[in-house]
Amino acid sequence: MPELTKIFEALQGSPALQTSFTTDQFFLFIDLCCHLRPELDLTSSYNRQLPPLRLPQNVCKFLALAVFSSDDQETISIINDAWRALSRVIWQTSERLAPASALDMFLLHGPALKIAWKIIGPPTVTCTYSECPYFRRDLTNRKQYPATLFTRDHGPIPVFPSNLYCEGCHTTYHPNYYIHSNATARTYYNETVPKVVQVSQRNFFEETLCEQFAVMMTMAWNSATNCARIFNLSTGDYTRERQKLIGWKAMQMEMEHVWNGFFLHGLMLESFRSQTRLTFPNSDTHHFERYSEALILRNESYRGVARPMWNHVCDLCSKVVIRDGVAVLIRAVVVDGVTIGHPCCGVHDCKEPLPSESTPHGKPRYCLTHQNIENKCAITTCNQLAVAPHKTCAQAECRGVENKYTSTGNAMFQLKSRLKRNRERLTGKKTIAPFHGAAAAALDAALLAASASTLRIRLQMVELFVDT
Ligand SMILES: [Zn+2]
Ligand SMILES: [Zn+2]
Ligand SMILES: [Zn+2]
Ligand SMILES: [Zn+2]
Repeated sequence: MPELTKIFEALQGSPALQTSFTTDQFFLFIDLCCHLRPELDLTSSYNRQLPPLRLPQNVCKFLALAVFSSDDQETISIINDAWRALSRVIWQTSERLAPASALDMFLLHGPALKIAWKIIGPPTVTCTYSECPYFRRDLTNRKQYPATLFTRDHGPIPVFPSNLYCEGCHTTYHPNYYIHSNATARTYYNETVPKVVQVSQRNFFEETLCEQFAVMMTMAWNSATNCARIFNLSTGDYTRERQKLIGWKAMQMEMEHVWNGFFLHGLMLESFRSQTRLTFPNSDTHHFERYSEALILRNESYRGVARPMWNHVCDLCSKVVIRDGVAVLIRAVVVDGVTIGHPCCGVHDCKEPLPSESTPHGKPRYCLTHQNIENKCAITTCNQLAVAPHKTCAQAECRGVENKYTSTGNAMFQLKSRLKRNRERLTGKKTIAPFHGAAAAALDAALLAASASTLRIRLQMVELFVDT
């Protein structure tokens, strides 16, 4: 907020303005103007050290509607007069966000005027390529498109991100990256970590939301699907209200957005910390393919000696003991107690990644080099082909192993175990005699021959006995 003395000085020459605004309206006008400074920066194509002489039409109309709930000619004139009087004072004030209460005004009046609560554009408004003939000259040819910004505190909100263009080097500057004229690569800015991350063509995440999802995945083992579900449910009220108010459709977060945000934000942080340029191919490929090379490079750069503290040893985490006269070093290893492991090729020690597409038998078990083994009988000593849908060949020896393996997970197995548990509870009750001795033995014998359906009926009967 500008200093009061400067505001009073600016208003001295415009006595009419002093009666046009109430105090609330006046300070709301100043707040909104300060908030919209980046919007004016993106629109202007002249010396940005000075405020524009006239407000762009859409900004002027938005201010009139937000401050006076009217956009008639008289109100527009008041806004223009106020801008003329106060623009220099506002321009000297550092950028600040309007209060959260103003969000509703942006939702109500913004979409029709392409004005958003969060103004998203490239981090520069001049060309930064030192060999460009237009180096440090203003970027032009602003292009806006509708998109959704998923925020941590305010749910999904409509935004109108902007691209700018340099006519000297034919580079298009996007919010997170720039594309050269040959349009083959997206090079990400690495001067700072951006406040918003573009996770797909028309979806943006606040950086703090990416951070939150990463923490949820690390601390609570949330899947990307559940991260999206939690976001959609917890912001459901905001979303419903907005969809009703402005009819903005694309407000549901998808699992794919969460993964894109997770990987892209991680790569951006890495690029910022290591001060390297993050570059992706600019093609229509799926995001997963676009990021995969950078992710592999990043993971390889962290292997072995490149890992922080890889050779750390201290008295707390290691100990030397003498065993049979020989000094032995014991080192602590930190594990989480659960080893899930990553899917990898079934051939021992093969480092080739698995194909992402599923086969007719389900998820691939072998890499492309070893995919011919996919149809072989799963018994390692057998060279016959497996018979679909089984994983083993038709030989009884092989099929028996498969049947035994799968039987541990089927319903029959579980039903028998439930019945056994209930029978044990039942026989513990001395008043119910029929299930003791011979009756219990007969029941066991019946179990061996029982089909799943008859077993289920018997189980219900026994459970009925237990409950009564
Ligand atoms: Zn340029
Ligand atoms: Zn240590
Ligand atoms: Zn392999
Ligand atoms: Zn076999």
